[in-house]
Amino acid sequence: MNTQKAKHTATVKQIASDLGFDACGISKAVFLENDAVNLEKWLNNGYHGKMKWMENYFDKRLDPTLLVPGAKSVISLLFNYYPEKMFDNEDVKISKYAYGQDYHFVIKDKQKKFMQALTEQVGEIEGRVFVDSAPVLDRAWAAKSGLGWIGKNSMLITKQKGSFYFIAEIIVDLDLAADLPTTDHCGTCRACIDACPTDAIVEDRVVDSTKCISYLTIELREQIPSSFKDKMEGWAFGCDICQDVCPWNKFSQAHKTQEFFPNPTLEHLHKNEWQEFTEEVFKEVFKKSAVKRAGFIKLKENINFCK
Ligand code: SF4
Ligand code: SF4
Repeated sequence: MNTQKAKHTATVKQIASDLGFDACGISKAVFLENDAVNLEKWLNNGYHGKMKWMENYFDKRLDPTLLVPGAKSVISLLFNYYPEKMFDNEDVKISKYAYGQDYHFVIKDKQKKFMQALTEQVGEIEGRVFVDSAPVLDRAWAAKSGLGWIGKNSMLITKQKGSFYFIAEIIVDLDLAADLPTTDHCGTCRACIDACPTDAIVEDRVVDSTKCISYLTIELREQIPSSFKDKMEGWAFGCDICQDVCPWNKFSQAHKTQEFFPNPTLEHLHKNEWQEFTEEVFKEVFKKSAVKRAGFIKLKENINFCK
């Protein structure tokens, strides 16, 4: 490897560490051939449900050079959101990633700092940052760069600390040394498939979103079909079941990021208060939260549906 490439690669990894990212992997910015086949099949099966936007930008999802002209590398970043304690509320559950502030803003802010530091050290480069906000297959890139493997629950699993991570990417026209993918460590385990209450994991690594509680409680902008009535297990926003049962998540460690600490009101909300949730409480509790994505009416409907 030439010395400049090695130096730039070391710089990237150092900046990631300085900014508090838990892991950083690098891939060549090439067309994702295997993922193209899988994505097409998934869409053709209608597993994206009413998320019609997923049909758009098919090529851009797979080819980073269509997002950043001249792109050479994709930098994948992981940020831990595993909380110190779970909400002890049997009646209403929300996904751990939404306990604190909206990750889109928190992570994007860090990515902007990343680009600034990188430019300062390597000179002018073209690059774009993505966090669940543009047509980028984040898990595929993270797996390609060796940060983990795609588990049977379709999440990115790391051997070190499980799967409770936000994944972000930075696509740059900077030549960097690519990391090697890791091996799959699911083995004969099928805990996630067996635990899914709606049978949404239809085959290894394939989730039918139309059956997934995350989709039903966040993305679906209409009534949740009554066939799911007794299967929600209390989840009102998202669902962590297939991650909670994953043996690799025994290695999860609590994050220390202030922004992701739960809103104290949320932490102490009692069962009955959830049922009487008003728009004022919603605005206060979820002021900066990703739960705002669902909206007050949807969350209220979810709470009533899953109780
Ligand atoms: S998030 Fe919940 S509903 Fe969706 S696949 Fe996992 S266990 Fe099933
Ligand atoms: S629960 Fe088992 S099969 Fe599912 S992702 Fe984890 S290790 Fe893989």
